[in-house]
Amino acid sequence: MERRADQGWIEVIAGPMFSGKSEELIRRVTRYHLARVPTQTFKPALDVRYAVGEVVSHSRLSTGATPVQDSEQLLKSVDDRTVVIGVDEGQFFDGGLVEVAEMLAGAGKNLIVAGLDLDYLGRPFEPIPSLMLRAEYVTKALAVCHKCGGPGLFTQRVVQSDELVVLGAQDAYEARCRRCFDPQEAEQQKLNID
Ligand code: ADP
Ligand code: MG
Ligand code: ZN
Repeated sequence: MERRADQGWIEVIAGPMFSGKSEELIRRVTRYHLARVPTQTFKPALDVRYAVGEVVSHSRLSTGATPVQDSEQLLKSVDDRTVVIGVDEGQFFDGGLVEVAEMLAGAGKNLIVAGLDLDYLGRPFEPIPSLMLRAEYVTKALAVCHKCGGPGLFTQRVVQSDELVVLGAQDAYEARCRRCFDPQEAEQQKLNID
């Protein structure tokens, strides 16, 4: 057997909002950073909820992050010496993220991508599902259902909007379990008010 020193891989942390994806990403990147392994963290330029140059979890953990427009800019921004690459909010990237991740893993990098696997209607939220199929390690994170305390695997939008992306946290979304998730809920509330 010939063991290669330059072997990279892909890790995906997938789950609904509030499931601790950013927390886990920050933890994984920080432990390398503390051991002086060169790391870089990226996030989509679209996500400016708390801070532009940082990934911040709902529990207020944070790490420095470079905002990038798309997967192409991400690829261009990776330094040669970087070994560990963190990516948060992977669902806001274009489909090119899968190819870029594979290229970087092929070049010996360790990629850690966090993102939503399902959208607010419970549909696959690409490119995370495709990336999960191409990853060596997949962690499915669960939140606590805001309604009943059960295993929250869905992100429930609690304000009415037909947009795929409505940025916001506590006020616009809740984690819900299989029984309490109802994609039509916000729609119906609006109808009741009208
Ligand atoms: P994600 O990136 O998956 O949205 P974060 O890592 O930003 O999640 O935040 C996870 C933290 O959110 C938890 O450690 C907890 O402090 C907080 N939190 C708020 N609401 C919930 C919930 N319903 N279930 C679990 N954690 C929650
Ligand atoms: Mg997050
Ligand atoms: Zn529930």
